[in-house]
Amino acid sequence: ATPTAVMVATGVGANNGVLIKGGDSLERAQMVKYVIFDKTGTLTQGKATVTSAKVFTGMDRGEFLTLVASAEASSEHPLAKAILQYARHFHFFDDSSPTISTQNDAKEVKSGWLYDVSNFSVLPGRGVQCFIDGKRVLVGNRKLLAESGINISTEVENFVVELEESAKTGILVAYDDVLTGVLGVADPLKREASVVIESLKKMGIVPVMVTGDNWRTAKAVAKEVGIRDVRAEVMPAGKADVVRSFQKDGSIVAMVGDGINDSPALAAADVGMAIGAGTDVAIEAANYVLMRDNLEDVITAIDLSRKTFSRIR
Ligand code: ADP
Ligand code: MG
Repeated sequence: ATPTAVMVATGVGANNGVLIKGGDSLERAQMVKYVIFDKTGTLTQGKATVTSAKVFTGMDRGEFLTLVASAEASSEHPLAKAILQYARHFHFFDDSSPTISTQNDAKEVKSGWLYDVSNFSVLPGRGVQCFIDGKRVLVGNRKLLAESGINISTEVENFVVELEESAKTGILVAYDDVLTGVLGVADPLKREASVVIESLKKMGIVPVMVTGDNWRTAKAVAKEVGIRDVRAEVMPAGKADVVRSFQKDGSIVAMVGDGINDSPALAAADVGMAIGAGTDVAIEAANYVLMRDNLEDVITAIDLSRKTFSRIR
């Protein structure tokens, strides 16, 4: 391709919100064999919603939700935001308090409805831990609870499995080292996700999904969207290893992701694509920035490269 062709393609991309960082990036996209998608916020809308909450002890429902919300109040995770929103709604509507808060920030701690929390810590890929009234509170996945020596009864396990089989994420809560309740969180697929996956397959490209979420939920989501190759329960640092494993035979690999967690994988990929508002770190690590948060632009990017370098017959 001539420098002019590259310039034209870069301009066409920009007009469609596809920012291409340099001619090399543009050239490599035509050769992509695998496109690895992050699940949360990339294939899904990243707008998690709590769909159910079940208490397994005698604890009052409102108290349970306030407890979980308090533990998650300092977390930036999309799951934490969903929990805060749900608990806030319950608190302000079912407690018949006149105030309706729409803000999700630390101010709430002072505004009174959340419990005071000490020794808060984030456990990446697992959840959060803190202390409330001197009692340990754990909110996260099975791995977190298992590592902390919390017993999960068959009743709880069955409830979580049921959630996961319907593509939801089960969030387990322990208070004072006793499994107290479970929340189910749904994060719907982006509307265009299935069509884009189908198009990629027609282009001879293999779609892959990678996620920190559990295997059962991951498989249910992958099935819904039409992806057969899934890597789940991947710790934040492990996503780059997944990219490298697909590069082993010399294949050109694209990675599409939105989060801080994804930046090492975006950097490791031959073609890193940061999607949506993304985080600054992800945008920095990527070769492409897909501004519109629309998965169709993955196709646009590859098409543009193929056309510029005449791979289309
Ligand atoms: P993803 O790859 O989907 O972005 P993460 O690595 O952020 O996943 O998280 C993996 C899993 O760890 C989540 O699916 C959830 O079960 C658990 N987790 C992480 N952060 C939190 C949190 N703040 N509250 C509850 N669970 C969490
Ligand atoms: Mg993500």
